[in-house]
Amino acid sequence: MEKLAILGGTPVKQTPFPAWPQYDDHERQALSGVLDSGVWWRTPGTQTLNFEREFAQYHQAKHGIACTNGTAALEIAMAALGIGPGDEVIVPDYTFIATVSAVLFAGALPVLVDVDPDTYCLDPDCVEAAITERTRAIIPVHVGGHPADLDRLMAIAKKHKLYLVEDSSHAHGSEWKGHKVGSIGDVGTFSFQQSKLMTAGEGGVIVTNDDDLEVRLRSVHDCGRMPGEWFYSHFIYGSNYRLSEWQGAVLRQQLQRLDAQAAIRTRNAAVLDAALAEIEGIVPQKSDERCTRNGHYCYIFRYDKAAFAGVPTGRFIEALAAEGMPTQASYPPIHDLDLFKNGAYRQRLAPEQAREDHAFLTAEFPHTNRLAEDTVWVVHRALLGSDEDTAQLVDAVKKIQRHAGELLA
Ligand SMILES: *Cc1c(COP(=O)(O)O)cnc(C)c1O
Repeated sequence: MEKLAILGGTPVKQTPFPAWPQYDDHERQALSGVLDSGVWWRTPGTQTLNFEREFAQYHQAKHGIACTNGTAALEIAMAALGIGPGDEVIVPDYTFIATVSAVLFAGALPVLVDVDPDTYCLDPDCVEAAITERTRAIIPVHVGGHPADLDRLMAIAKKHKLYLVEDSSHAHGSEWKGHKVGSIGDVGTFSFQQSKLMTAGEGGVIVTNDDDLEVRLRSVHDCGRMPGEWFYSHFIYGSNYRLSEWQGAVLRQQLQRLDAQAAIRTRNAAVLDAALAEIEGIVPQKSDERCTRNGHYCYIFRYDKAAFAGVPTGRFIEALAAEGMPTQASYPPIHDLDLFKNGAYRQRLAPEQAREDHAFLTAEFPHTNRLAEDTVWVVHRALLGSDEDTAQLVDAVKKIQRHAGELLA
C-alpha cells in the first residue's frame, strides 16, 4: 500500500536530481591555468577582467565590475551613487537581508514596502506611496528570477529623479520585454554565491550602461583608485572588493553554461506550471506577459493548506523533502527580523534620522506576510532534470495531497 516517505514509505524520487554546482574539465583547466600563471589577484590579471566584459556583453550592458559577493555589489552601488546618512531607499519587505543591509551599511534608511501577491516582486503602488523628499533610490528584486514591473518602476524613478538599482541575484539571464534584467535600471547587481544560477562559491558583479557611474563603481571597489593613476593615490571613498582570478576564471566557464541550463529550466518550469495549476490548493508564481525569459533561481508556488487537510506549510515541505524534492525555506518578512524589532538598525543611521518614527515599523505587509507563510521554493537544480524528474515532482505533491490526513495523526 502507498505510504508517505515521511511516515516510512518509499520516496517518489528514487534517483537524484542533477547536482549543483555543475562543472567539468573546463573549470578544472581554468583553475590550473590561473595556478600556473602565478597571477592570482585581480589587478594585473586577465580572467576577472575578461569575465566582466563577457558578463556585461551577455547582459546587454556596457560595463561590468566584478566584486567579492552580491551583498558587496549592492554596497558598492550605494557608495557610488552617493547614498548616505539622511537618505531613504525603498526596498521590498520580501527579500534576502542583503538588499536591505546594503542600505544600512551606507548609513541610509531602508524603507520597507509590500510586494505583489502574484509575482512576489516590489509593488509599484506601494513604492509610489512611500516616496518622500529624502528618497534617493529604489531597489527591486527579481524574485525567483521573475522580473519586477520594470516599466512602472522606471517611470516612477524617472518622474521622481530616483536611481533604480536592480538586485538581480536571482535573475541571471532573465529578460523583460527581450532585454536582460540588470541592464535596464541605472545599476544591476548579481551574486555568484553557491546557490545562485552561476557560481564560483562566492562572488558578485555590477553592471551599468552609464560611463561616469562605471568609473565611480570601479573606484569604490578598488580602494578609491582612478584609472591610469599611481597605485598609492586614492581619490574617493573606496574599499577592497576585488574578485580573485580563481573566481573570474571559473565564472567565465559558468557563463558558458547559462543559456543551455536556462533552456532546460524554462522547459521544465512550463511543465510544472501546467501540471501544478491542476492541483487544488497549488498556485504557481504568476508570469507577467512582459517577462520574456525567467532564469528561474527557484520555482515558487503558493500552498493552501485547506486543500491538504490543514497540514501546515512547514510540514508539507518536510513531507516533500522526504519524497526527494529539494526545497529551500521562504524568506521571512524583513520587518519581522530582530534587527528591526530590537532597533539595532538605528545604530547605522544619522542621529536625527535614528530618533524618528519609522512608519514601516507599524505598517501592515499583508502580501509579504502571506508569502512568507504559504510559499514553497523548489531549488533550481530540480528544474535541470529530465521530463521524468519533473513529473515526479508533480507526483510527490499529489501523493502528499492524497495522504494529507495521515500527516495530522
Ligand atoms: C544571494 C542574494 C544577495 C547577496 O548575495 P551574496 O553573494 O550572498 O552576498 C542579494 N540579494 C538577493 C535577493 C540574494 O538572493
